[in-house]
Amino acid sequence: MSGICIYAEQYENRIEESAFELITAARALSAQSGEHIMALVLGQDPDALSRQLSFQDVQVAAVKTEISALQDDALSICVAEALRQLAPSSVLIPANRTCRALFSRVAARMDVGLTADCSELFLNESGEFLQRKSAFGENAMCVTAEVGTPKLVSVQVGVHAPSVPDGGDGAYVSLKVPQPTSEIEILEMVEDGEESITGAERILSLGRGVGENYAAANELAQKLGAMIGGTRPLVDDGVLPFERQIGQTGCTVHPKVCLYLGVSGAIQHTEGVRGAKLTIAVNKDPEAGIFGYVDYGVAADMKEVIKELIKAYA
Ligand SMILES: Cc1cc2nc3c(=O)[nH]c(=O)nc-3n(C[C@H](O)[C@H](O)[C@H](O)COP(=O)(O)OP(=O)(O)OC[C@H]3O[C@@H](n4cnc5c(N)ncnc54)[C@H](O)[C@@H]3O)c2cc1C
Repeated sequence: MSGICIYAEQYENRIEESAFELITAARALSAQSGEHIMALVLGQDPDALSRQLSFQDVQVAAVKTEISALQDDALSICVAEALRQLAPSSVLIPANRTCRALFSRVAARMDVGLTADCSELFLNESGEFLQRKSAFGENAMCVTAEVGTPKLVSVQVGVHAPSVPDGGDGAYVSLKVPQPTSEIEILEMVEDGEESITGAERILSLGRGVGENYAAANELAQKLGAMIGGTRPLVDDGVLPFERQIGQTGCTVHPKVCLYLGVSGAIQHTEGVRGAKLTIAVNKDPEAGIFGYVDYGVAADMKEVIKELIKAYA
């Protein structure tokens, strides 16, 4: 078994951004191991899908299927069979909700393990494929090595910069796999209407301390042209939708500027903000851990700071 296979997720015949991020991750591994890169894509129009994955160094393996990504009982049979035919040594999967559901079934069908939510992939000096991920309730980082092949590894979305197709004509292979009937019937698709925060250049990250200042913080976000994201407690309390949760169990963002309001600075949250050029925190507790992470800190009640900023940007 050899080769690094990325799972290229698609929605309505459009390859998802995560596939291009996984190609970047696969290229870094391939540079060390010399293994070739494959992209597995399943959908109604394999030709149109594979054209979006035109890279010199990526072999596209496409499966024509009418099975939806949400019918993971049936789709997992197709994916497992496609992977048996491709026989890669490792499979990189986007760590999102649909792929969690799909690949837990794929792993069971292939009788292999799955290392979930990895933030870093690398080979050690002896060429062994290792993964870095959080552990113990997200309180520690650990390095894992999977036994068995292929090694299924899900990778946090937003951690790798997406590769841009180079118009190359990597090899293309069309796979024939069984098309089982799903027991899941899709009655209606409803868009959640949430704009993704992962590409936002300016972010206001709100924490539990926002309390009654939520409306004012929203007004400030509009003035600054920033998107609102936040910590898990705000999502748990229903103040923000899950798509806006930043952190180890939420999304990873790469803003130019991040303003934290009422965020204590738990690593589970700050891990989700990577490579920000400027970070500022407002917290009424001068001892708050967030002040250890940011470029500038304001130890004050956010109510006053928000009021002044809204005035300044009026
Ligand atoms: C397995 C696991 C996974 C997790 N994943 C995530 C994750 O993905 N993302 C995430 O965010 N968290 C995550 N957490 C939770 C994380 O550990 C913290 O509990 C959480 O980030 C704290 O959120 P917070 O800073 O909003 O709240 P708090 O820790 O309660 O902090 C609130 C802050 O607001 C300040 N404050 C209050 N009022 C004001 C005011 N008027 N003006 C200014 N400051 C004020 C306070 O001084 C305090 O520092 C996870 C935890 C676990 C165990």
